[in-house]
Amino acid sequence: MLDTARKLIRDAGRKLGLSDKQIDELIKTDAEHNFEIELADGSKYHAYRVQHSNKRGPYKGGIRFHPQVDYDEVRALATLMSFKTAVAGIPMGGGKGGVAVDPKALSKEALEELSRKYVQGLKDHIGPDKDVPAPDVNTNAQIIDWMVDEYENLSGDQTKASFTGKSIENSGSLGRDAATGRGGVIVLREILNKSSISGPITYALQGWGNVGSFFALVAEKEHPDWKLVAATDSSGGIYDAGGLSAKALDDFKKTGRKLTEFTTGRKIDNDQLLSLDVDVLALAALENAVDENNVGSIKAKIVLELANGPVTYLGYEALNAQKVTDIPDILANAGGVIVSYLEWVQNKAGEHWTEDRVNKELEKYLKNATRQVYERSRKNQLPLKEAAFAEAIVRLIS
Ligand code: NAD
Repeated sequence: MLDTARKLIRDAGRKLGLSDKQIDELIKTDAEHNFEIELADGSKYHAYRVQHSNKRGPYKGGIRFHPQVDYDEVRALATLMSFKTAVAGIPMGGGKGGVAVDPKALSKEALEELSRKYVQGLKDHIGPDKDVPAPDVNTNAQIIDWMVDEYENLSGDQTKASFTGKSIENSGSLGRDAATGRGGVIVLREILNKSSISGPITYALQGWGNVGSFFALVAEKEHPDWKLVAATDSSGGIYDAGGLSAKALDDFKKTGRKLTEFTTGRKIDNDQLLSLDVDVLALAALENAVDENNVGSIKAKIVLELANGPVTYLGYEALNAQKVTDIPDILANAGGVIVSYLEWVQNKAGEHWTEDRVNKELEKYLKNATRQVYERSRKNQLPLKEAAFAEAIVRLIS
């Protein structure tokens, strides 16, 4: 993923006429922190925080708890964040953090200890005007609440603006949970409005997690003519040409069961999902889902990158050759960081906005961002992904 992100920045930078030195400046990270967390039971975990750029505002980016977290993954995600916040037009920079751990193997007490020790290790480098972390894969409002509490104990800060993605009772923002999925719906709608695909569409969704489920739920409510025909989680999933109810799938998943156990539809695996003959393939699982080996099987006209880095560089080149429109992650999933920013604004002002107000602000930011990326893609004859990176670069160097 780091290679992919850096190659995309180089490509877009060269097309804008930047020198290699200027591109190196865009790629390099401002600061990298890593330390070991030791829990009371003696177990040890590697922890990371990478601060890529604060040129446009405090570093901003999630914290991931996952066994595969390593320096390069965190560097890549931190880099993508700087470009995402720039494309989104919010005054924030880019950072990312993580711990190489399987949180499902920890007790609740150990998870709290890990979360608090993560903050202890970073206390001098984070804060409301320095670096404002948020949840990512396997971290949630409960974990962030522990982290905020720890930060308050260590620093005395009472603004709650040190982290976003907090629980609502702890000064979190309404609308944050659904923001990334909702944002994906807004971006796809705006691109469809400009494309030759008109009328009802079919789509397949990889990854029924936070992002994927809210994408499907919001789409079902606001665009009943977008037909969900297939969905998967890590176990595989189901296909039904007649259409699936997002609400029914979500209720089912909330009972703790796997999508492959759903009662209607035909069982499919993730390779089959990628190769379905649909208008839109929405990727909301993890990175590198589409690469040079499986890209040839994609029949969708549009790939919507809801996850971070779900398409490798070679996969992306092949999608272009196959004339598939690839809507890039730094635009398609920017809804989460936009509402994180709105949470930070509310905390700083001591305000609590209604969900309607948050959603209207989100809509405004994403409509603007999509229009600007689209216009650059027309003006510079670039695919949307390179146009998004080019738009971000212009904002990061000015
Ligand atoms: P999540 O853990 O809630 O959901 C991930 C889902 O993907 C799970 O349902 C899991 O079963 C599924 N999955 C894993 N491997 C799979 C596979 N091979 N095939 C199909 N499904 C698979 O995580 P999330 O918060 O929804 O994040 C998903 C992606 O979106 C990540 O790349 C994350 O960085 C990115 N993202 C998340 C947010 C956010 O606000 N949560 C914001 C921006 C980007």
